[in-house]
Amino acid sequence: MPRWLLIANQNTYWIIGLALALMLSAGLFLPRRDLGADRWKVWAATLGVAAIGFGLLELASPWLLKVDGAVTNALHVPALARMGLPAPILIILSLLLLDLLSYATHLMSHQIPWLWRLHKVHHSDTGFDATTALLHHPLESLVITAIQLFVLSVLGLPLIEIVLYGLLVNLHNPFVHSNIRLPEQVDRVLRWFIVTPDMHRVHHSARMDEGNSNFGMLFPWWDWLCRSYRADMAEGQKTGQLGLPGDARAEQPGFVQVLLMPAKAGSRRVQR
Ligand SMILES: [Zn+2]
Repeated sequence: MPRWLLIANQNTYWIIGLALALMLSAGLFLPRRDLGADRWKVWAATLGVAAIGFGLLELASPWLLKVDGAVTNALHVPALARMGLPAPILIILSLLLLDLLSYATHLMSHQIPWLWRLHKVHHSDTGFDATTALLHHPLESLVITAIQLFVLSVLGLPLIEIVLYGLLVNLHNPFVHSNIRLPEQVDRVLRWFIVTPDMHRVHHSARMDEGNSNFGMLFPWWDWLCRSYRADMAEGQKTGQLGLPGDARAEQPGFVQVLLMPAKAGSRRVQR
């Protein structure tokens, strides 16, 4: 979800739009799976929900930043940006910390029941293409942004590194959700450094054990270290069922159903 750059840079929308168009086209020319003919219905619902999410974040951002500024002042925590670290070390350290924070909030979204109610919207897509990157409940975007901003204000990370991470995530997110078929060797080499579509598709599996793996956002290393890495789907990338665990819906939820989804107990929470 492109939460990061929204706060820091209004050019976010261009970056997201461009990356989305590129990855959707790549998925159409080199498809990994057959996504069905009525995919446009899913796109319509996803874009509607995403528009509300962006609007809500735009409205809430000044307030969130104000609260976080007050928290930073009250805590008197020494800012990482003012520790006099050499620039390359600061950049690498910041990117690693930001990505670890993404991993942790994603893991929390699967472990804490009320967060899972919001996050399960993202997992409700039984297909998987670049637009899935935008499928998040507006309240989830707001809550996760608030949590991440709070942690960032405590750590005192430099704004420029946050913008850089936001740029990388917004370019990478449509790629990692894309329906693109990468050559096996390319995927194998790439996933040493970044999360690949095949690796993240495992996380969108309807099987609980597979859906409870590969939480990483940009880098795959946290999943290795925390032993949540899973190389592949038992049923295979082309035929393994995607979506919510135990959910045997024949049809994708529409715009209103997606918005109301957190209110329904519905699908089981992913558990460890
Ligand atoms: Zn997830």
